[in-house]
Amino acid sequence: MHVLDTFRLTGRKALVTGGNRGLGLAFARGLAEAGAEVVITARDQARNEEAAATLRDEGHPVQVVTGDLVTDAERIVTESAAALGGLDIVINNAGIAIHRPTFEVPQSEFDTVLDLNLKSVWTTSIAAARIMKESGGGSIVNVGSISSIIVNRPQWQASYNASKAAVHQLTKSLAAEWAPYGIRVNAVAPGYVKTDMAPVDRPEFKARWIDDSVQQRYAMPEEIAPTVVYLASDAAAFMTGSVVVIDGGYTVY
Ligand code: NDP
Repeated sequence: MHVLDTFRLTGRKALVTGGNRGLGLAFARGLAEAGAEVVITARDQARNEEAAATLRDEGHPVQVVTGDLVTDAERIVTESAAALGGLDIVINNAGIAIHRPTFEVPQSEFDTVLDLNLKSVWTTSIAAARIMKESGGGSIVNVGSISSIIVNRPQWQASYNASKAAVHQLTKSLAAEWAPYGIRVNAVAPGYVKTDMAPVDRPEFKARWIDDSVQQRYAMPEEIAPTVVYLASDAAAFMTGSVVVIDGGYTVY
């Protein structure tokens, strides 16, 4: 087989959480371009439909399942698998970051961050893996962050950093546990990427976010998508439990 054929996802069924904008939209587009049939999910139905329409205009038959992953992950996974006729790939991408000094963080805000960034990854992964186990395997890609490795400056965001560190260790733990079922579990850990979440153009962040990085720039979502496609594909057949850092060299220092 030609090496590039191992990256192809023709006929694979993929769910991308948080797929209506930012990194998730780039991941949905990348998977679809590689041949996968894709469902995107997020809370905002209008935005979901808009993103799906954009991808359909580009020739990709993307479907939508709307819902809140914090309260409804099992239904979202079940409906997505039903819409696709199976489930081979899940990209656990939906996430939230809130900047605030820890002394000022209400308990409810900590819970909001952990409920989405960690607990929904747990719930979604279990629901998906039950389906993958029955069909002989699959690939789960979690979206972690360099915030699990470094402490971001100048803003404080301890809940986010802790949630992403937990995602990395959950990735390794599930990889070990589910390898016998043919399920691979990996993660990507991006540096700063221009999305609604990360105001990379704001001058107060330039010194730490941009000037401190080796490449002295941020990424666009399309620069993270190829690695997600790779991890989802058979090209990464011998990779599981890995966390791939994609940060323009930020964590070198
Ligand atoms: P965005 O804020 O641009 O997008 C977040 C996505 O998650 C949206 O699609 C949003 O849709 C969805 N979402 C939020 N809350 C929920 C919920 N409760 N249930 C279902 N969907 C939800 O973020 P990014 O694209 O920047 O981030 C994507 C991932 O990448 C996150 O996990 C983030 O932590 C990670 N990351 C981002 C970096 C960056 O610099 N941007 C760097 C490193 C990691 P809706 O509001 O409609 O629900």
